[in-house]
Amino acid sequence: MVTAIEPVLRRQLIDRRQKLVTASSVFHRPVELTRLLAEVDSALKRMDDGIYGLCEVCHDPVETERILANPVERFCIDHLSPNEQRALEDDLHLAAQIQSTLLPPPSRVIDGWEVAYHYQPAGAVSGDYCDLINGEDQSLYFVLGDVSGKGVAASMLMAHLHAMFRTLTSINMPLEQMVERASRVFCESTLPTQYATLVCGKACAGGEVEICNAGHLPPLLVQQGKVTSVAATGLPVGMFSSESFSVSKFQMQKGDSILLYTDGCSERSNHDGHEYGVDRLCDMLRAEPDLSPRPLLESGLRQLETFAQGNAPVDDVTLMAIQRTH
Ligand SMILES: [Zn+2]
Repeated sequence: MVTAIEPVLRRQLIDRRQKLVTASSVFHRPVELTRLLAEVDSALKRMDDGIYGLCEVCHDPVETERILANPVERFCIDHLSPNEQRALEDDLHLAAQIQSTLLPPPSRVIDGWEVAYHYQPAGAVSGDYCDLINGEDQSLYFVLGDVSGKGVAASMLMAHLHAMFRTLTSINMPLEQMVERASRVFCESTLPTQYATLVCGKACAGGEVEICNAGHLPPLLVQQGKVTSVAATGLPVGMFSSESFSVSKFQMQKGDSILLYTDGCSERSNHDGHEYGVDRLCDMLRAEPDLSPRPLLESGLRQLETFAQGNAPVDDVTLMAIQRTH
């Protein structure tokens, strides 16, 4: 991976070197400047020697997202000094705190609807996006997405999606156009390898529901005890700048529910390597079709834990349940 991005990083390093040299005429701390220049020159020399991006202690590749953030990085996470490790942990802790403030309240009751969600990062931060946004006419937008990649980089993209959907829902445009715009902006402002699968829905006061599924796992609908799924009608957002999307529409009755989830849930595996799977989620909904959102999520999570037999989740787990209450 580092080899693929090395030309880009080399240009960045040369650019940084030029800026440091320019700054030398006005810079009042020549010692600091000399140190920074030496760091850049050393990185450029490592590129020439073919050892760039390798940890100086263990010679394993330095984590790609860390070398992208800091092209002069010389050590993998395991071989940072204790002070550096503590600083990194502090940063992660802060990122996790910021991410938690981007989440909506854990449950919500509005005109005719009740919603609850469960958001569980596999590490300090999550690459899942989960949101509830009030629309006009007492409608409610619900969004659940999964960003490509993991860790801090994925959590930054999650924050990007959050800001975009918060802005787009305030304009009150048709759902498919909203997702199209989100896809274009996401595509134009992220790396080519970055995209997100997501479901964006709108629940209206009269019980109508619209769902746009952009490459995400199918939301499950429970209507009068029968379980159906809403297959994806578009690619993930951010893959191409001119993607088009379509919307599925449903009329929900009292007691009907929708369950959204990320692959951290459906692909949760047990010690034998078997995945939980969408079918088990469907079975759970068939067995308990009338449960209101919070008990439904609790039941789902209990079954997931029982299935996993203590095997810790390796991916972020997010579940959202929405029920029509009258
Ligand atoms: Zn190392």
